[in-house]
Amino acid sequence: MHLYLHVPFCARRCGYCDFAIAVRRDVPSAEYADAVLAEWRRWRDDSRWGAFPALQTLYAGGGTPSRLAPEALHRIVEGITADRPLAPGAEVTLEANPEDVSADRARAWRAAGINRVSLGVQSFDPAVLHWMHRTHTAQDVPRAVSAIRDAGIANLSLDLIYALPAELNRDWAWDLNLALALEPDHLSLYGLTVEPHTPLGRWVDRGEVRPTSDERYVEEFLLAHARLTGAGFRHYEVSNYAWPGREAVHNAAYWRRAPYLGLGPSAHSAVGDRRWWNVREWAAWSHAIQGGASGVAGEERLEPAAVAVEDLYLGLRTDGGVPLDAIGAPLVRSWLDAGWASQAGGRLRLTAEGWLRLDALVAQAAG
Ligand code: SF4
Repeated sequence: MHLYLHVPFCARRCGYCDFAIAVRRDVPSAEYADAVLAEWRRWRDDSRWGAFPALQTLYAGGGTPSRLAPEALHRIVEGITADRPLAPGAEVTLEANPEDVSADRARAWRAAGINRVSLGVQSFDPAVLHWMHRTHTAQDVPRAVSAIRDAGIANLSLDLIYALPAELNRDWAWDLNLALALEPDHLSLYGLTVEPHTPLGRWVDRGEVRPTSDERYVEEFLLAHARLTGAGFRHYEVSNYAWPGREAVHNAAYWRRAPYLGLGPSAHSAVGDRRWWNVREWAAWSHAIQGGASGVAGEERLEPAAVAVEDLYLGLRTDGGVPLDAIGAPLVRSWLDAGWASQAGGRLRLTAEGWLRLDALVAQAAG
């Protein structure tokens, strides 16, 4: 059993972000902790979780979980693990923004049981951070990394965004070098996507920003692949790189379709072919939970055909790949000939060139 907590609070909305967030200057930490623990109590004895005596991972994502008061975080972890203990060596992750990290906070997170931090860096270029509406400076990043390590949190992941509009003149190789100099255990790299109903979506609609070209996207994806695998990282999932042994256990649970429970506004949960999701907005979710109602907004049961397509998609996005016989022999041959896949040990794995075409290849295989 894996547990996800969605902590929705952010200082302001970044230009590209369409996540379920609540912009708050003062974070209602105690109210959030009360509501999330009340939601946990609704679920902890549900028969779906009976077979899982311990939590394999706990992940606080957002939003910006590092804005939550450490005492509230401590209370949440303590409350949940009193009912369902963490398995030995369980991964307990907190997503943090660099400006929120201080020596005191990092020590408090460690005391609350956090043993992995995923830091939202995105870039070290001040102009890029400003354009993104990020609230941290480039100098905040090394300070945050030192505070996290000094507090005894050894497992550190950095998030970066690539494929930015050409007019920003972002030097992707320079950003990668600065990230590597901090010696992270793990890196998550995401290509910028233009989502409707975001500031970026509106800038693009008004013609003020031009999304990056496909060529630049491909160039930066392959540059990162070459640079990071050359430095010893394993490119183990289309967007994720890890030092061997530091692969994200929580994220891998999603890719294996392991059972997970999500708490908090907009959180998703899944067991087998059943999945459900919570009310998206913080105020509505909190109101429902505090009124003794369920926070669930909807649910679905996947048909076997949809499960098969999802298995294909999840398998191909990781370097574990899929069994060779999951895909027709002529298609396998054409992917191998094109350099989009490799085969070994009875499995087919996409190459970096293949991952650039992931959606199209899954559609071919499923069609
Ligand atoms: S900090 Fe993260 S969740 Fe919050 S607005 Fe920015 S990208 Fe979105």
